[in-house]
Amino acid sequence: DGAPSNPLLDGLNPQQREAVEYRGPALLILAGAGSGKTSVLTRRIAGLLSSQDAWPSQILAITFTNKAAAEMRDRVESLIGQAAEGMWISTFHSACVRILRREAEHFGFTKNFTIYDSADSRALIKRIIKDLEADAFGFTVSSVSGKISRLKNELNDVETYARNANFNDPAERVFAQIFRMYTSELQRANAFDFDDLIGQTVFLFRAFPQVAAIYQRRFRHILVDEYQDTNHAQYSLIRELTKPIDAHVAEALEAGEGYRSSQREPNGTIAGASLTVVGDSDQSIYAFRGADIRNIVEFERDYPRSKVILLEQNYRSTQNILSAANAVISNNFDRKDKKLFTTIGDGEKIVGFTGYSQHDEAQFIADEITTLHDGGLDYKDIAVFYRTNAQTRALEEIFIRSAIPYRVLGGTKFYERAEIKDVMAYLIAVANPADPMALRRIMNVPKRGIGPATEAALQLHADKHEQTLRDSLRQADQLGLGPKVTGAILGLAGLLDEVTLRVETAKVADILEAILKRTGYVELLRASRDPQDEARAENVEELLAQTKEFNTRNPDGTLLDFLTEVTLVAAADDLDDSSGTVSLMTLHTAKGLEFDTVFLTGVEEGLLPHQMSAGEPGGPAEERRLFYVGITRARRRLYLSLAMTRAQFGDVNVAMPSRYLQEIPTELIDWRQSPGSANSRGGTQPRALNARRDSIGSGFNSGFSSGTGSGAGRAASFDRGGGSGYGYSSGPSATALARAARNAEKKTEWTNRVTGTVRDNGDLTLAVGDRVKHDDFGEGTVKSVTANGPKSIAEVQFDEAGRKRLLVKIAPIEKL
Ligand code: ATP
Ligand code: MG
Repeated sequence: DGAPSNPLLDGLNPQQREAVEYRGPALLILAGAGSGKTSVLTRRIAGLLSSQDAWPSQILAITFTNKAAAEMRDRVESLIGQAAEGMWISTFHSACVRILRREAEHFGFTKNFTIYDSADSRALIKRIIKDLEADAFGFTVSSVSGKISRLKNELNDVETYARNANFNDPAERVFAQIFRMYTSELQRANAFDFDDLIGQTVFLFRAFPQVAAIYQRRFRHILVDEYQDTNHAQYSLIRELTKPIDAHVAEALEAGEGYRSSQREPNGTIAGASLTVVGDSDQSIYAFRGADIRNIVEFERDYPRSKVILLEQNYRSTQNILSAANAVISNNFDRKDKKLFTTIGDGEKIVGFTGYSQHDEAQFIADEITTLHDGGLDYKDIAVFYRTNAQTRALEEIFIRSAIPYRVLGGTKFYERAEIKDVMAYLIAVANPADPMALRRIMNVPKRGIGPATEAALQLHADKHEQTLRDSLRQADQLGLGPKVTGAILGLAGLLDEVTLRVETAKVADILEAILKRTGYVELLRASRDPQDEARAENVEELLAQTKEFNTRNPDGTLLDFLTEVTLVAAADDLDDSSGTVSLMTLHTAKGLEFDTVFLTGVEEGLLPHQMSAGEPGGPAEERRLFYVGITRARRRLYLSLAMTRAQFGDVNVAMPSRYLQEIPTELIDWRQSPGSANSRGGTQPRALNARRDSIGSGFNSGFSSGTGSGAGRAASFDRGGGSGYGYSSGPSATALARAARNAEKKTEWTNRVTGTVRDNGDLTLAVGDRVKHDDFGEGTVKSVTANGPKSIAEVQFDEAGRKRLLVKIAPIEKL
C-alpha cells in the first residue's frame, strides 16, 4: 500500500497492524484463541520503543506467568535488536512485589517482608481456627481461606467486612474475628499473602497519592495480556496506575526531585498512561461468568475514549481443530459470536480414543507419542493436558515404562519438598526476623530438643512482651527452662543473628552455605539410615546449586530477590527446561501456550465438566471454556481421550463420556476406539451395538458412532500386553474392582444409552481349570477365581497374552 516497509509490521494483517500502530489513551483487543493477541502486544512494545514513543522504563507489561514475561522480553529484544533494560514485563504479583519492597515502609511493613504462599496462609488459618475454636461454627481451613481470598480480591479489608457483616449472625461474628486475627498476624509477621500483594498495593496507591504518582508518571504505557482473567483487585490496580496526576501532586513530586517534567500538560497535570488490554472472554477460566463481563464493562466506562479492535484470523491451528473449538464454544450462550478463520487448511482429523481404564488410555497415549516421535516429531512439541493433578499418576507410570521423557508442569514442586521447605525457612527466618512461621518450622530442625511446650512458652513470652518470637529466643534464659533446652534455644538465636548480619551484603549461596555448615543439616541427612535421606541431601545440594546459579544470573541479587523469585514461580514457569521432553500440565496451566500435538485426556463427565462445577452458577459454562482453551492449544494434531472406568481416591468408577464431546461434529473426529465400540471387537462380535444405535436414534449417540473399523487400532493396542482393559497387570485392587462392578450395575443407564455394548455376562461362573476365550487375549485357562456374583474376579493364564486378572461379569469372555 505504498507505506514505507517496517519490519515490525511484516506479515501482520490489517487489524493486527492497526493495533501495533495505535497511539492513544486506551486500546481493547478482544479476539479468539490463536489470533495473535500476545504477538500483537509484543510487537506493540517493540514498536513503541523503536519509534521512540516510549523509553523502556516507561513500559509496564503484565503477563500471565513469569515464563511468559521472560519470553516477551526476549522477543521484544530480538525484534528491536537491542537490550531493552528497565522495562517492567512481569506478572501482576511480581510487579506488586517490586513496588511493595520499595514502598512498604509507608504503611507499617518493612521491605524484607515475607510472602506467605497458600500453604503458609493455610497453616496460619488453621492455628487461628483452633485458637478461636471456630470449627464449632463449621469453619474449615478451606472455607475460611476461600472466603478471605474472595474478600481480598474484591478489595474488602477487615474494616469493610466488619462494617457490612450481620453481627446478629454468630458465624459472621466469628468470621470477622478470624479475619481480623489473620490480618494482624500477617502484619505482626511482616508478611503478605498472595492476594495482599495486589490488594495492598491498591490500598497503598489510594492512601498515598504522592506514592501512586511516582508510578503513574513513570509508566506511560501499560499493557495487559489475558485480560479476561483479571479480578477486581487487579483491575483496580491498573485503574490506579493509569489515572492522571493532578497539578499539585505533580508539583509536589517534581519539587522533591528538583525538575519539571516534559509530561506536564499546560494546566500542570500529567495525563494518565496509555492502556492496552488483550483478551478473549471465551477463555475466561478463573472466574464466574460475570467477572469478565464486568471487567469489560468497567473498561468501557473508565476509558470512554478507548478503541476496540477485533482480530479474526487464527494463525495457530488447522481448520478441523478450529471447527471443533468453535462448535464447542458456541454452546455457551451470553457470548458474542466470533468469526475465526484459518488459512492453514483442514489438516488431520481429531483422534478420539476410549480406554477401558485410565491405564489403557495412558498406554494409548504413550504408544501414539512413540509413533509420532519415531516419525520425527520432537518430544517438546507434544503436550498432555488433564483437568486434575491426580490424573498424572497413570500417565507417569506408563511414560516411565515406555521410556518417554516427560516433565510435569506445576506438579510436585521442588520447593514443596519438606527438606527444601526446611532450608528455605532458615533463609526466610534470617531475611525477616519478624516472621514466626519460618521460625516455628526450624525451631527443632535439626532436632535440638525444643518441643511444643517450649515453643508455646516462647510464644507466650513474646505475646506478653509484645515482641517477636525471635526476640523471645534471645531471652530464653529468662523463661526458667532447663539448662539444656535453654542452651539449644540460645544457640539457634545466635546462629540466626549471626547470619542475619550478613543478609544485606553476602551472596545468597554464601548465606545458605553458612546455614548448612552451622546446622550440619546435610551431614545429618547423609548419616541417617533412612534411605530417603540420601535423596533429601541431594535435593538440598540442588538448592545450593540453584542459589549459585541465581547469583550468576543476578550479580547484584539479594536474598530477598531470591526468596521473591522462588515464591512467585508460577506453574508454567519451569517450561524452560522442556527441551526434549513431553510436557504434562493441567488445562489451567496450558493457557496461552501452544504445541504441535496435544493430548487432551479424561474427557469425561465428572472431570470435564468437573463434578465440583455442577453446583456453581455458570460452572459448566466455565468448564466448557476450559475445554475450549485446551483444544485451541493444538497446532496440527489433537487427541481427545477418555476412559470407561477411572480409579480415583481408591475407588473405581464407571465414567461417562463428557457432554462436550457430543458438541463436536462427528465428521471431525476419527474414533480409533469409540465409546460405542470400546467393548465390542471389530467385526468378530457385532453384539447389539448397531441394533441399539438404531433403536435410540441418532441424537445422543451420533457423536460416537464411527466405531467401525476401529478393530485394527484396538487390536494393536493390546499387542503390548499388560496394563490394558480389565486385564490389569497393575492398578486397582480387587476390592476396588469389586466396587467398580457395583458401580457398573448402578450405572446401567449409561451403559444402555451411550455404549450400548458394555458386556454383561450375567451370572456366568468360572471354575479353576475352565478354558475361556477372550476377545482380545485369545484362549486361556482359569487359574483362580475369587468370590461369586458381580464381584467375581478370575485370574486367567492366556496361551499367548500371559496372565491377566479379569472382572468376570463384564470382561469380554466366553466359556469354551
Ligand atoms: P491465545 O488466545 O491462545 O493466547 P493469542 O491470540 O495470544 O492466542 P498468539 O499466541 O499471539 O495468539 O499467536 C498464535 C500463533 O500465531 C503464534 O504462533 C504466532 O506466532 C502466530 N501468529 C500471530 N500472528 C501472525 C501473523 N500475522 N502471521 C503469522 N503467524 C502469526
Ligand atoms: Mg496469548
